[in-house]
Amino acid sequence: MHKLIALSFLTILYTNTSFAALPESSLRPGGIAIIPLTDQVKHVSYEDHRVLITEENNKKYAVVGIPLSTPIGTINIKVDQEIIPLDIQSYPYAEQHIKLKDQHFVEPSSDQLARYKTEAQEQNLIYTSFSQSKWKTLPQFITPTQGKFTNSFGRKRFFNNEERAPHSGLDIPAPIGQKVIVPADGTVVGIGHYFFNGNTILIDHGQGLISMFCHLSQIEVHKGQVVKQGEEIGKVGKTGRVTGPHLHWGMSLNDARVDPQLFLAPKK
Ligand SMILES: [Zn+2]
Repeated sequence: MHKLIALSFLTILYTNTSFAALPESSLRPGGIAIIPLTDQVKHVSYEDHRVLITEENNKKYAVVGIPLSTPIGTINIKVDQEIIPLDIQSYPYAEQHIKLKDQHFVEPSSDQLARYKTEAQEQNLIYTSFSQSKWKTLPQFITPTQGKFTNSFGRKRFFNNEERAPHSGLDIPAPIGQKVIVPADGTVVGIGHYFFNGNTILIDHGQGLISMFCHLSQIEVHKGQVVKQGEEIGKVGKTGRVTGPHLHWGMSLNDARVDPQLFLAPKK
């Protein structure tokens, strides 16, 4: 009887608190590691990038982004002066072969490459930034636009049979003009009209957690604007290198592009 009471109490505790706001842990390239910390811990880093620290029910956790390029095996997280080894497992990401008619996108000209390099530097500067968070507990994210999506994150891509970087975001197919909303509070830190990504918005959620929205037909915010969860920021489009209208939603944590689905509440 006591056991039963204890169990149901735990269930209530689990569903009624904000515990679900911790992203889902998934030890794979493109995944996330959750490390419980003692109160005294001040600084966590991975490959010289400072790592996000959040509090849930008065307990501290480090939330570490694992880059898509991470080889299978052990990675080391530095927790103050201590090294925590983590075992990274393989994951069956899909393969996608795309035929592109516009050869410019397959073999960009030197001008286009120079443009892309400048744009990539601009985005990397944002990904490697680390701002103070306004939250103590990492907020729960919501989907930025409506639409049925499959597991497109991490897909190995071949354009006209040439292997390219794996897909670093989640594609949500949606009609041009459908509204895109803010998945969690933050500050607009970047607006771009990029060669590959098209019209793009980058939002800083604090502590190196950055979200990215690409291929937009319209941008309705400006750099420096503070945005709230649920607020409209733009419209779905097909700008940049795309085969059809959709929203590309990227999430970056300690400069690692991670699976955005890990930030969403588990499906019931
Ligand atoms: Zn995409």
